[in-house]
Amino acid sequence: DQIRPKVEKHIREVKDFPKKGINFRDIMPLFGDPALVNELCVVIADHIRHTTGQIDSVAGLEARGFLFGPQVAIQLGVPFIPIRKQGKLPGSTINASYIKEYGEDRVEIQEGVIKNGDRVFLIDDLLATGGTLRAAADLVKKAGGQVAEAFVLIELSPLNGRSKLEDVNLTALISYD
Ligand code: IMP
Repeated sequence: DQIRPKVEKHIREVKDFPKKGINFRDIMPLFGDPALVNELCVVIADHIRHTTGQIDSVAGLEARGFLFGPQVAIQLGVPFIPIRKQGKLPGSTINASYIKEYGEDRVEIQEGVIKNGDRVFLIDDLLATGGTLRAAADLVKKAGGQVAEAFVLIELSPLNGRSKLEDVNLTALISYD
């Protein structure tokens, strides 16, 4: 609770990015304050210990989930799993698709990184329409795992991404109306 206003201060609003009419929330200024980034990752790890419960891995979504996921995983001593856009991971992969504004997109993990019954903690920077996290949750299930919790720093509530994730335990640090 104490961390929320500190993080919020570093979220920059960029109007008309990446195109006109979009109000982009930029989390990059946060990384100008390394002590706060560290504090945030410790808070997320403590939240997992006390609330989420036992997890087997942390899975981060490309690209900004990679900024937090490994740090949280290291705090807990569990593996980090990268969830990437199609075609980026070498070797055998498992994939799940989702519909974007223009056509379909696909996310992938490497085969074997999730074991049957594994409890996976999903992390990304931001929830907008929910398509990305939905595909990630489907991917975890397809691999035989379960989503212990999905965590985002920011939720854009009016886009109602939460409605796509009713079967998922979803937590947002900051919610914008
Ligand atoms: P969704 O699939 O519509 O929920 O979009 C979420 C994905 O798009 C996340 O991986 C975000 O990183 C990215 N995204 C969408 N809008 C923003 C934004 O305003 N700031 C930062 N990332 C965003």
